[in-house]
Amino acid sequence: MDYFNYTPRTSSVVRIGKTPLGGGNPVRIQSMANVSTMDTGAAVQQAIRMIDAGAEYIRFTAQGEREARNLGVIRKALHERGYDTPLIADIHFNPKAADAAAEEVEKVRINPGNYADGLQKIRDRFLPFLAICRERGTAVRIGVNHGSLSERIMNRYGDTPEGMVASCMEFLRICKEVDFTNVVVSMKASNTVVMVKAVRLLVETMSAEGMDYPLHLGVTEAGDGEDGRIKSAVGIGSLLIDGIGDTIRVSLSEEPEAEIPVARKLAAYTGERKGHPPLTASPAPAYRPLAVERRMSRITEGIGGGLPPIVISVRSNGDFTFDHSFPPDYIYIGKEDPDNLPDTLRLITDASSWKPRPNVFPCFSPSEADNVEECSAPLKFIRLGLTELDDRMTGLLSRDKTLVVILDAGGERNAVGIMRAAIHRLMTAGCDAGVILYREYDETDAESLQLKAAVDFGTLFLDGFGDGIMLHNKGGEATVSDKCMFGILQAVRLRISKTEYISCPGCGRTLYNLQQTIARVKEATSHLTGLKIGIMGCIVNGPGEMADADYGYVGSGAGKINLYKGKRCILKNIPEEEAVERLVLLIKEHGDWKEA
Ligand code: SF4
Repeated sequence: MDYFNYTPRTSSVVRIGKTPLGGGNPVRIQSMANVSTMDTGAAVQQAIRMIDAGAEYIRFTAQGEREARNLGVIRKALHERGYDTPLIADIHFNPKAADAAAEEVEKVRINPGNYADGLQKIRDRFLPFLAICRERGTAVRIGVNHGSLSERIMNRYGDTPEGMVASCMEFLRICKEVDFTNVVVSMKASNTVVMVKAVRLLVETMSAEGMDYPLHLGVTEAGDGEDGRIKSAVGIGSLLIDGIGDTIRVSLSEEPEAEIPVARKLAAYTGERKGHPPLTASPAPAYRPLAVERRMSRITEGIGGGLPPIVISVRSNGDFTFDHSFPPDYIYIGKEDPDNLPDTLRLITDASSWKPRPNVFPCFSPSEADNVEECSAPLKFIRLGLTELDDRMTGLLSRDKTLVVILDAGGERNAVGIMRAAIHRLMTAGCDAGVILYREYDETDAESLQLKAAVDFGTLFLDGFGDGIMLHNKGGEATVSDKCMFGILQAVRLRISKTEYISCPGCGRTLYNLQQTIARVKEATSHLTGLKIGIMGCIVNGPGEMADADYGYVGSGAGKINLYKGKRCILKNIPEEEAVERLVLLIKEHGDWKEA
């Protein structure tokens, strides 16, 4: 892998109806219906809304053969209305439904974790399925999910990226053996760290075995709103920006058509990295992105050394309005005189206007480097770009232990490559100075900022780089940028500043109004910082896929809810109207409640 320059992964082409995937085709956008697959009218209407919004494939759940066969009816109805977008059947637990669906739609997704277990059983079921797919020209996705691995794989590997890859490879080796090439693969998780590591490991493993199947990317149970967008952008975007990924689905707990513009923005933004000016740099000898270990910097005044990354808000425009739920650690005020500000705020001023006083720290430019060592401040910043990071500079950074780098990638479209190259240069020089990642944007809408910043900073934090984040959006309010920075740190699991919701997007199995329920659960629990709450539509996949949630709210039947503490089901079949209140009581009983 070239860490510094955009180098798209070469993948094979998979034929999915009229819309081929992989092999240099554009990144395909897809979504999944959340209405019942047996409700043909609703399914057709929802599919049309998704297609009109730009979806290139539409997926439906098919619990059994009946639903799988009805996909043929839905497909016909769509064709009659002039829509020939390929349909995908989503199968769990039911190989017979997979066989039926392979005769009705253009692509079938199976989950290796619950399709069949035991190597002989897998062959017995999978080979006849592949024969149907070959005959009908149906494509297949081997779709592995963290949280739904088979017992056999779990016993051997645990619920790990290694287990996910092992599970997938068992199926891929059979495809290769019988020369079935119409295959797409995916490794999904709600935890972005697990998801990205699993995909990178799969790419490496496939490559070692001479496989180049295209990849479907997605973060499961990403949630809704800003959190869902940031989490999806971190997971999906950090792979796309490295040229990995052929189709994407952004799973939001919102209407399926709302996913499409988000997915399109992600694909467009990461695609902008193509054709950037080439960058010459050498990787640090000991660096392995698959390890996902953080670069260990020294600790300078609470910055670095594996501590949660700090947040620096840029307020050089004199705007000192704050959202008190997301208070930044430092405020960069540039040349402003801080005399009118209270001592309780930690400020950073340009070194040229710095005056010694508590809680105010200087920021030097490279041209002021000669003055750094004379300065008595206990914490000093130096703002520099890749080209300024020469031997003299790494020497200074190694000598003066009070220095922290603000690594400035400006608005460069290859900001990720530039920042990686700079950090590799520090590592190669044996310099352990802390590094704050800095990048500029000019976005007028919050969603675009969230997506772009989550891709850039998320990629670097998942690389294991960065002791802090400093985002300057020239086009928007600083409070929005501050919230976005905290959201990114939460999505990469390095700093938790709010309640985390792991909610599924809903599908034909969903047993209650997911969006309204999420809003009610959030209203009751959003002050429980650090708690992870799963809100899942069904008990078939919900309990496994709510991952490491502390509490779970899972649909168990029409209007009925099961409540979980961790992986243990504590209360069964609670009427939906009482369930949020009972969830709150459950949290209180276990001592995790605090008053707002
Ligand atoms: S948890 Fe159940 S309802 Fe939610 S998306 Fe998964 S299968 Fe559908």
